[in-house]
Amino acid sequence: MSTKQKIKKNPDRSCTDCGTLNCYRQEKEFPDFCPTESIGSDEIDGITAGYRGDGMDARIARASAEIEGVYYGKLTRAEEIIAFANRLGLKKIGLATCIGLSEEARIYSRVLKANGLECYSALCKIGSVDKTGIGMDESFKIQQGGHESICNPILQAKMLERHGTELNVIIGLCVGHDSLFMKHSSAPVTTLITKDRVLGHNPAAALYTCGFYYKRLFDGERKL
Ligand code: SF4
Repeated sequence: MSTKQKIKKNPDRSCTDCGTLNCYRQEKEFPDFCPTESIGSDEIDGITAGYRGDGMDARIARASAEIEGVYYGKLTRAEEIIAFANRLGLKKIGLATCIGLSEEARIYSRVLKANGLECYSALCKIGSVDKTGIGMDESFKIQQGGHESICNPILQAKMLERHGTELNVIIGLCVGHDSLFMKHSSAPVTTLITKDRVLGHNPAAALYTCGFYYKRLFDGERKL
């Protein structure tokens, strides 16, 4: 590839418009809008350099790639997280847990301990601040007329930091609350469970079935 940055044709097209995925094995052709071709090797080489050496980014990159290579299709995600922590030498795992998945979090804390890791967890309702306390109208509560706490992902992140967790695992935080948690976590974050209250925590099911049952996904007239 040329070191000179090329002008990308069709600049609005991106990887989801690609039919070759040639960046993976270089057995086909890069499409004319391919960012791999237009970025230029200087920038790619600069980023690649960050994956070498002893820095945390480099160690995470290599541990992830090793787990992918060694355990491809063999370990569950619950196990891969343990393998990941072990490769990085991280002993204390933080669990950022949704109240709706508190039982799953309890089970996972036992799994971690059975595998020689320490665990500290923070539930989403930690701090017990009523929703009206952040300017939310009572009507936004699931059950109106009584105390109903906000999810408090920033406090979750602070508590895990205070207890020295070295890798934080999201167990079912809400869309957006997870964004805040990831933004404020001092330790690297990965996800064990991505919450989908309708689809049994399998959000991909909506995409698998969008040809019929979930064709409403394409209804742009809806105001979501
Ligand atoms: S980087 Fe290029 S080859 Fe890879 S998916 Fe995107 S457009 Fe396709």
